[in-house]
Amino acid sequence: MNLILMGLPGAGKGTQAEKINEAYHIPHISTGDMLRSAIKDDTELGRKAKTYMDEGALVPDDVTIGIVDERLKKDDCREGFLLDGFPRTIAQAEALESILKNMGRTLDKVLHVNVAEDQLIERLTGRRICPVCGATYHVIYNPPEQAGLCDLDGSELIQREDDQADTVKNRIDVNMKETKPLLDFYNDKGYLVTVDGDQMIDHVFQDIQSAIKQ
Ligand SMILES: [Zn+2]
Repeated sequence: MNLILMGLPGAGKGTQAEKINEAYHIPHISTGDMLRSAIKDDTELGRKAKTYMDEGALVPDDVTIGIVDERLKKDDCREGFLLDGFPRTIAQAEALESILKNMGRTLDKVLHVNVAEDQLIERLTGRRICPVCGATYHVIYNPPEQAGLCDLDGSELIQREDDQADTVKNRIDVNMKETKPLLDFYNDKGYLVTVDGDQMIDHVFQDIQSAIKQ
């Protein structure tokens, strides 16, 4: 089961990735985790990636693709994988195709968790975080017992700059622009399944399961 999970920030990808991982026992491979583990393992590509990350620069495609290639060849991917955050561009998508081809494998599904933009903005701008213990809340979906205060230590909750309305809108727009060509690419190839992400978590997951079974 070789899967890619796509969705805009706030679409609930992380939650669904965990559920897929539990139900199907395939590793959830996010780009960030993959880069961090290559750096930790001190592989040649990991060292290259680190020099860019230390400078706050984007890791170039050939390094990222090499790291994906190494990651997918590990034992735990034998029964499948769930890629998250990769590919980001058509060039990366094409590179992934040849990586899989070389392994004698193909993609099965590209799962797209779709949530309307205004709904995403509501989800993301409602996030609050405790500056002391790092606990996270949501004014609508996961409110603290006392409005504005951390349940664990009573500290005053803050809204991260990243979660403020203008920033959120901008982040979503940038992501949409980036994602659209990829969705088209996978749709043309017949891999894309769009799941309505604007439902209860378990219902979204049920839709994902039936998409996988198709
Ligand atoms: Zn706290």
